[in-house]
Amino acid sequence: MTWIGTSWKMNKTLAEARAFVDGLVAARSALDGVRAFVIPPHTAIAAVRERLPSDVPLLIGAQNAHWAPAGAYTGEVSMEMIADAGATLVEIGHSERRECFGETDDTVALKVEAAVAAGLTPLLCVGEPAEVRAAGGEIDWVAGQVSRGLSRIAAHDRHRVVLAYEPVWAIGDLGREALPDEIAPVMAMLSARFGEARNGVAAVLYGGSVNRLNAAALLGVPGTDGLFVGRAAWDVAEFVELVRIGARAGAAGRLDAR
Ligand code: PEP
Repeated sequence: MTWIGTSWKMNKTLAEARAFVDGLVAARSALDGVRAFVIPPHTAIAAVRERLPSDVPLLIGAQNAHWAPAGAYTGEVSMEMIADAGATLVEIGHSERRECFGETDDTVALKVEAAVAAGLTPLLCVGEPAEVRAAGGEIDWVAGQVSRGLSRIAAHDRHRVVLAYEPVWAIGDLGREALPDEIAPVMAMLSARFGEARNGVAAVLYGGSVNRLNAAALLGVPGTDGLFVGRAAWDVAEFVELVRIGARAGAAGRLDAR
């Protein structure tokens, strides 16, 4: 099943979050056959959970959580707290967290371990900066980030993890869209080394300046199980359109596999 998800980053009030859910519920049939997820800011997780009818198949995530179960960590929330609020997924190691909040591969690994222990799905984000790409080092960089990120969980728990390859140079307002050919070698490496065929992670997603115009081509890159989208999915109609593109890609993949 194709994964299509969005993180709202530091956006949306409670009213805006509820309006997004209402828009999605109005188009709920679009969600059939797609593993869709939304990652609100912490303040809106419970509101999204409460607004969402229980039979609508949408996963809810959190953008971050601490690895410690509780304690004197002002401003942080634990894995248990986000699960209690309604999250089943937790984003870990997004490049903005690594860059702006000092996350390292060590803290990422601690969070992946804590997420698995709490029964959550870690969405482990990896990706090389522009200078690494310019020097041709992206495969080693990304493989290293994944290996270190998974280093604290047992091999038999890897199937509980979802990876998102998000090249730093392709993310956000200053990013540029990646071409399918540019990401293909990295996606192939991730699926070959860490994917399901190796008893590895549940899915490998691509993220970075995805939108309704490039989504189908990016989903066509071998080894890509879905898309992780920022700006282009914050409007619910755009999110639904991306979900529809994901459903069509999944259906085409099933036909190809016959
Ligand atoms: C992201 O930050 O994870 C992301 C994919 O953002 P955008 O789609 O806005 O580039």
